[in-house]
Amino acid sequence: DAKMKGKNCYMIYEPRSVSAFRERHQLLEQIQHGLDNNEFILNYQPQISLKSDKVIGAEALIRWNHPTKGLQLPGDFLPAIENNVLEVKLGEWVLETALSQLQLWNEQALDIAISVNISPYHLMHPSFFSKVKALSEKYPFKKSSLVLEIVENGALQDINHVKDIIIRCADIGIAFSMDDFGTGYSSLSYLRQLPLSELKVDRTFIQNILTSEQDVEILKSIHKLSQVFGCRVVIEGVEKDQQYKMLSQMGFGFAQGYLISKPLPATKFEEWIAGYAHNKKSQGNKLIKRE
Ligand code: C2E
Ligand code: MG
Ligand code: MG
Ligand code: MG
Repeated sequence: DAKMKGKNCYMIYEPRSVSAFRERHQLLEQIQHGLDNNEFILNYQPQISLKSDKVIGAEALIRWNHPTKGLQLPGDFLPAIENNVLEVKLGEWVLETALSQLQLWNEQALDIAISVNISPYHLMHPSFFSKVKALSEKYPFKKSSLVLEIVENGALQDINHVKDIIIRCADIGIAFSMDDFGTGYSSLSYLRQLPLSELKVDRTFIQNILTSEQDVEILKSIHKLSQVFGCRVVIEGVEKDQQYKMLSQMGFGFAQGYLISKPLPATKFEEWIAGYAHNKKSQGNKLIKRE
């Protein structure tokens, strides 16, 4: 539409969009190359029970060791592959990597679940269920120890199809979580229509609970809703001791956030968990190792 605004605009805007197009194209090529060359890794962020202080799971979060740009976060490269076949390829890599890690940890008697973020486009892709089923046969796991986190998004329009996938996945032991719960356009309608096992409450609802009465009321409502719908709740983005205490007093089940640990590479995660268990014993169940 720059064209329609006359020649001057055309001169100004066109080169920019061409370079943006070229940049994105380059990024897509680099991502494909990165997949072929093992440049991607998963970091794991612990999730703990607010009732027992036990580590119950880990969320897998993708990172990219870019050969020239260094460590890239999801926000740096996931937007470029949205609704592209690469989103499916990368998503399949994430699933397989997480499942092989889960198998390794189970063999080491580390009894935790792994949560994996699934993009809406990947979830809706016709091959999704058959690929997941094949992976679940290659890396058998205990019921509910694979949790798939989905976000509401325009791509999830066909809610009956989403529901069908969730039900078929439940048959092979996979649980579903709604990520960033409360921030989407239709969280409540999704809650009503989809058989979800978990709500992952967005961190913006926790940020101000120490000062905002209103945010506390919202959290209380979410807690009630979760009971009505039989979902467990994981609160994300817990950064402060007082937040942790308050959430625990409010009766929430699970928490994740920098207060507990940042996302860590698998071996660092194993070290962290060993230290956490040790610390718990020696400090009489005091929660977090403080520096
Ligand atoms: P998310 O799934 O909501 O993940 C939580 C994000 O919050 C992560 O950012 C995590 O590092 C960060 N975080 C955790 N605790 C805290 C905290 O206490 N305070 C603050 N300020 N932040 C915290 P990250 O790793 O940059 O990921 C961003 C988003 O990218 C994720 O949000 C998820 O939507 C997406 N993502 C990450 N990995 C994958 C993946 O493997 N596949 C897909 N499809 N999406 C992914
Ligand atoms: Mg997530
Ligand atoms: Mg989230
Ligand atoms: Mg998010």
